[in-house]
Amino acid sequence: MLTEILAQVSRAALQGEGRDEVLQGIVDCLATRLPVALASIILLDEEGTHFVHAVWSGVLELDAPAGAPGSEPWPITKGAAGRCVRTGRAQLLTDVDGDPDYVPGHDSVRSEYLVPIRHRGRLLGVLNLESTERDFFSPQACLVFDAVAAQVAGAIHLARVVHELELANRALRESSMRDGLTGIANRRSFDQRLAEDWDCMGREARPLALLLVDADCFKELNDSLGHQHGDECLRELARICANVAERNRGLAARYGGEEMAVLLPRHDLDRARAAAEDLRREVLAQALAHPASRVARHVTVSIGVAAVVPAPGMSPHLLVSAADRGLYLAKASGRNRVRAGYVRSRTRAG
Ligand code: GH3
Ligand code: MG
Ligand code: MG
Repeated sequence: MLTEILAQVSRAALQGEGRDEVLQGIVDCLATRLPVALASIILLDEEGTHFVHAVWSGVLELDAPAGAPGSEPWPITKGAAGRCVRTGRAQLLTDVDGDPDYVPGHDSVRSEYLVPIRHRGRLLGVLNLESTERDFFSPQACLVFDAVAAQVAGAIHLARVVHELELANRALRESSMRDGLTGIANRRSFDQRLAEDWDCMGREARPLALLLVDADCFKELNDSLGHQHGDECLRELARICANVAERNRGLAARYGGEEMAVLLPRHDLDRARAAAEDLRREVLAQALAHPASRVARHVTVSIGVAAVVPAPGMSPHLLVSAADRGLYLAKASGRNRVRAGYVRSRTRAG
């Protein structure tokens, strides 16, 4: 019987895809194969001071055990599970009413057995079995659960490592798409979104607009008030661009240096120009000091705008160069203004 259960638990542990599936497979297997009312696994955090994750299975409806999703981390200073971690030893509660540390999870639970799950000397969490009968856990039953905990430790360790790797990968992917200084999307992310929006607007036969936003006389700002102050202004500009993008369901990105790009799907030139004017005015309204500007007493921006309905044979580069021409015109005609650049369709490929 023991060998059979261990084999089944092993199978469950090895078949799961992610961490939660592995853990769920184990507790489901225990709850169906053994006459316990509840089987749960609660995992510790990296430091081993709090339970941070729980999965459970059984016939009793639990509100939420320690470490359940959405609950506060449960410190190991609390409860019989905490004592199991603190002492590093299995805890047998033959009658929960007589245990000073017991924290009730369900009224009908009468006895409980908690086993530390240890992998290569490191405590990963606790296997927790609960019964509605007093004195349910015989020495033989405890031996079975000790063996189960030892058996699943490796699988839990592996599932945990995979889970942590997935989280780290996600964070890395996320940070590789963000600009370190301003926190908005970076150039790589912009290029990716431009290609996606271009295809999408092409399919919908709707216009895609682009704003290229360049700070005026920024070199002089750095020279007069210092590079750090310049950085602070860039963060502020990025925040304003991000607000405009959010209001218009678009994307704001740091295009390079002191230049930002705002991509606006489903915006024709008129709507894009209006959004650009809003942005220009919002920058002015911030009244960021710029004593060395040739344009105004405060930081100003010039904005090039372009919009186009992507058609087969056209490249998104056409939109960028058109916005760039607009930006050149805005600079040449005095700065602190919005100018449109027109897409040169004769440069269409094919
Ligand atoms: P214009 O009005 O023609 O745009 O003049 P400008 O001085 O803004 O333009 P230019 O391209 O000559 O200079 C851009 C300046 O932006 C130069 C560079 O020092 C500054 N810059 C680029 N990236 C950063 C940054 O990350 N932080 C700070 N503080 N300055 C930056
Ligand atoms: Mg500039
Ligand atoms: Mg520039």
